[in-house]
Amino acid sequence: MSTSSYIFECSCGERFNSIQAATTCSKCRTYSFGNTCLYVENRETGVLVWGKYPTHEEALRYEEEMDRQSKELSEQIDAWISEEKGPSEAQVLLENEEARLDALYRVQDRMMEYNGNA
Ligand SMILES: [Zn+2]
Repeated sequence: MSTSSYIFECSCGERFNSIQAATTCSKCRTYSFGNTCLYVENRETGVLVWGKYPTHEEALRYEEEMDRQSKELSEQIDAWISEEKGPSEAQVLLENEEARLDALYRVQDRMMEYNGNA
């Protein structure tokens, strides 16, 4: 398979053909924690090749952070709807934010998984 060279996975779950590219993943700015790539794993060997996995405590903290953000979001949506932004604009913002939160929850799930295996 020609895709097998894309074995380096960054913390948001994107795959790259070099460690260097994975560490500078631009999607991690939105879809990982701390707005940056936290670690890179070689998915063929399951070995961590750059950075470090968050600890169990850090992963739990990220989860709390997510819960807080998702609560803030629903309050924000109400405000958008009642204020200057129309429901359709609020809907778009909501969908974007929901996609981002979904991605972050997946990342967080994976972190807990790694911790379980450690
Ligand atoms: Zn990434």
